[in-house]
Amino acid sequence: CFCKLKGSIDDCTCNVDTVDYFNNMRIYPRIQSLLGRDYFRFYKVNLNQICPFWADDSKCAIRDCHVLPCQDNEIPEGLKGEILRDIHFNESPEDKYRSDAQMTDCRHSSRDHNMELGFLNTTISTENYKEFERWQRHDDAQDNFCVKETSQGEYVDLLLNPERYTGYKGFSAHRIWRSIYKENCFRPENSPHIFIQSSKINGMCLEKRVFYRVISGLHASINIHLCSKYLLVPQDSLQVSSDNQWGPNLEELQRRFSSETTGGEGPNWLKNLYFIYLLELRALAKAVPYLEREEYYTGNEIEDEDTRLAMDDILNVIKSFPEHFNETVMFTGGTEAQLLKEEFRQHFRNISRIMDCVGCDKCKLWGKLQIHGLGTALKILFSGKFDRWKPTLNNLNRKSFFLERSEIVALVNAFGRLSESIFELDRFRGMIR
Ligand code: FAD
Repeated sequence: CFCKLKGSIDDCTCNVDTVDYFNNMRIYPRIQSLLGRDYFRFYKVNLNQICPFWADDSKCAIRDCHVLPCQDNEIPEGLKGEILRDIHFNESPEDKYRSDAQMTDCRHSSRDHNMELGFLNTTISTENYKEFERWQRHDDAQDNFCVKETSQGEYVDLLLNPERYTGYKGFSAHRIWRSIYKENCFRPENSPHIFIQSSKINGMCLEKRVFYRVISGLHASINIHLCSKYLLVPQDSLQVSSDNQWGPNLEELQRRFSSETTGGEGPNWLKNLYFIYLLELRALAKAVPYLEREEYYTGNEIEDEDTRLAMDDILNVIKSFPEHFNETVMFTGGTEAQLLKEEFRQHFRNISRIMDCVGCDKCKLWGKLQIHGLGTALKILFSGKFDRWKPTLNNLNRKSFFLERSEIVALVNAFGRLSESIFELDRFRGMIR
């Protein structure tokens, strides 16, 4: 079978079979159920930001490409900032520790900052507020791998807008991928294709290989999704509505990934999917102590408690899996390594800007979310903030809450997308059998 991969995953200490088993049996069912929770299904995004690189050519091929933003009454009250719990921002860390210690599990909350800032603005002194803002700006500049959206955006219900075949292809889609690979990935000299031939990858340094592999793995994942939820009725039918018109298209998968049709590269692209999966898994594992303390607040007590239990359950499974991607060997050694790290970050930030140029709203929504999630994983791995993060007295200070709600939502959803791709590949293998 062209999609039955063998052997180890390059730049990791693990093989494909181990990931298949771990993901399909242990992670996939859990993450699917977690992503149905209110905390994770509502994502705030601005799909109307101007493309900074070329004139907008947005054109949805079929009706299904549109994204439906949420109506106000559909958004959980807690996410709108209407139910605000006490944030002890004005207190000294010691006071905060004491009052938090009275809470049963001392969880912290990373609600959307814009609402939060509005709230904080009215409750803290101007001086503290300015300091908070200064700290935020500094943090953005230093640690973030994605460019922040300049305006607020709207909440989208991800369950109502699933990632699937949209008919987005041709010049516009190719321009995005070309610009990502050719202008924003590190490349060996004289590499004529969009992709980097596998024979040339090993000549690059680890950091540059990692960059290419995560982008290629994400590309593979997006294309697997569109193959597994392909439009099975003719495209000119604009009456697309019921779910049974979407299903797996094995021929399309074969065209995109078999050795014969891709000059031998397809199986490497699939392996890159396993690579990005292990990288994001490692980021989640590293952030476990932090994520265990998150409140997952939506304003509905029962829902929030269930989300915390589901999150604790999946984090325990993640903790039980040995680590197979080692970020500590990257960017080591002197100034040169630091310059490379900065270049790596700037390249990735540029890719997050390119997402505003995607010419199909649904592809843009999922493209933005997955780049945001991957950027959050890179921030966890490389900002240094999570290296020895422990819930200590100092960490209860509001200033050391490093992740916004939207980052957590993007990270978990992005990982869920990769988990589903690996699961879907197995279903395709079953179809072939
Ligand atoms: P493309 O996928 O466009 O690839 C272009 C070239 O890149 C290929 O010819 C090959 O040389 C190389 N390549 C292909 N795969 C890889 C890889 N994994 N690694 C390295 N190189 C590779 N379409 C949908 O139907 N639904 C979606 O939700 C969707 N989301 C998208 C999100 C983004 C951000 C983008 C840019 C596109 C999205 N698309 C989506 C479009 C889809 O990815 C393809 O571009 C489109 O289906 C056309 O496919 P293609 O066969 O021409 O090759």
